[in-house]
Amino acid sequence: MIARERVESVLNLIRPAMRADGGDIELLDVFGNGARVRLTGKCAGCPSAYMTLYAGVERALRQEIADTCGSADAASFVDFADWLRRLYLVEMPTFIDANFDSPLDLLASPRAAARLVRLGGFRRLGPVIRSRFRDERLHRLFSFQALYAGLPPARALALCAVITYMDTIEGVWFPDGGMDAVAAALAAAAARAGAEVRLGTTVERILLDRRGAVAGVGLAGGEAVRADAVVCTLDLPTAYDRLLPQLRAPRAVRAGQYAPSAVVWHVGVRGLPDAQTAHHNIHFGADWDGAFDALVRDRTLMPDPSRLVTVPTVTEPDLAPDGCSVLYVLEPVPNLSGRVDWVREREPMRERLQQFLHANGYPTDVVTQQLVTPLDWERMGMHLGTPFALAHTFRQTGPFRPPNVERRVPGLFFAGSGTVPGVGLPMVLVSGKLAARRVAHYIPGSRR
Ligand SMILES: Cc1cc2nc3c(=O)[nH]c(=O)nc-3n(C[C@H](O)[C@H](O)[C@H](O)COP(=O)(O)OP(=O)(O)OC[C@H]3O[C@@H](n4cnc5c(N)ncnc54)[C@H](O)[C@@H]3O)c2cc1C
Repeated sequence: MIARERVESVLNLIRPAMRADGGDIELLDVFGNGARVRLTGKCAGCPSAYMTLYAGVERALRQEIADTCGSADAASFVDFADWLRRLYLVEMPTFIDANFDSPLDLLASPRAAARLVRLGGFRRLGPVIRSRFRDERLHRLFSFQALYAGLPPARALALCAVITYMDTIEGVWFPDGGMDAVAAALAAAAARAGAEVRLGTTVERILLDRRGAVAGVGLAGGEAVRADAVVCTLDLPTAYDRLLPQLRAPRAVRAGQYAPSAVVWHVGVRGLPDAQTAHHNIHFGADWDGAFDALVRDRTLMPDPSRLVTVPTVTEPDLAPDGCSVLYVLEPVPNLSGRVDWVREREPMRERLQQFLHANGYPTDVVTQQLVTPLDWERMGMHLGTPFALAHTFRQTGPFRPPNVERRVPGLFFAGSGTVPGVGLPMVLVSGKLAARRVAHYIPGSRR
């Protein structure tokens, strides 16, 4: 477990700025590699206290880099963090939180586009990070996020570094009660606004009227739910295949480049991880470039895989019975366009993941488990067995990504990772907002 004194020393880096604003930060408790803090004085409840906090976290990161990688990289980090923030501020309002009707819409924001070019957003992420830092570990730490966008760092555009920004500067957030709490809170908000949420109900068809406009949805069992507009959140190829068989999917959907997939082994285990274990733990393989060549070029398993182990019970022990933990281990693997026979590979993969967990000191006395391979993702309706949808290549990003509106079917809109802005929970939540704007525009007088 991280020592209380160590956490206090990090908080001491943050305190001067908070005290200058008439507030302070109090350490409540330390668990694993995490800590619970409370903002006090004028900082309590003050929205800008988070800015002060971020500045403090940045200072702490700089110190950590200085201690681990040397002062030259620590100095580079200052400029790097500033670059990430500027990238984010240009991209978020203009290219992420925005509806596009055509690529020409980019011309509507020429200054933002020019700023993005000046910031190097269209260069390649891997080389940009290499040019900024000497230590190989920092190259990996600040560029592996490209994989979330479905690309190796060497091929991803530097504008994908907004994910690095959210990961390292804004910080990773874990909702009280686990990820399910986000869905439950959204459902409660929808219910308060008068919506009825029906779970466990399969939509089989999007119903059209005689003019070809949306008329509602047809459910398994035959019930028809009438609607003036429909927001469809399925993976787009599946949505066209299953719900709109009369329409040919747009080319970008049919012939797009889909992201690699992942095997995820979820386990409930007896025992607790050791004190050094964090909520998220990334174990990098030694052969960095070879791993991406295997995954993306050869579409085979990585010879020396990098893996993510997430242990939510480090943050929230109540998610498991006393003395037990829940965790998952994730290994990136090719999607189903690759050369892996998942019927044959399933059990050996599970065994390898168990050995890996054991070798790295995680508890492996399994009480309950679920292994998810690309075949399982495919069964859940994800095209080519990947839960990460279309990769964020230049041609599949922003105005070039399949749009959230189907012009041939008035009243039909899309949300989710297959449309704009893209993959990951922040993006998918924005996609819901963008679809809602479309609906509000389509049905004047509907509530925003
Ligand atoms: C292991 C893993 C870890 C991740 N970690 C993170 C993370 O830490 N941070 C982050 O930002 N992102 C993360 N992601 C990515 C993120 O989860 C996805 O980008 C996001 O959930 C995609 O949302 P979506 O709405 O497009 O699709 P989904 O979340 O798949 O939602 C689609 C829903 O539609 C339902 N559905 C399908 N067909 C039908 C039908 N015919 N009728 C009715 N309902 C149907 C499905 O059951 C599903 O509930 C992770 C993904 C994975 C796989």
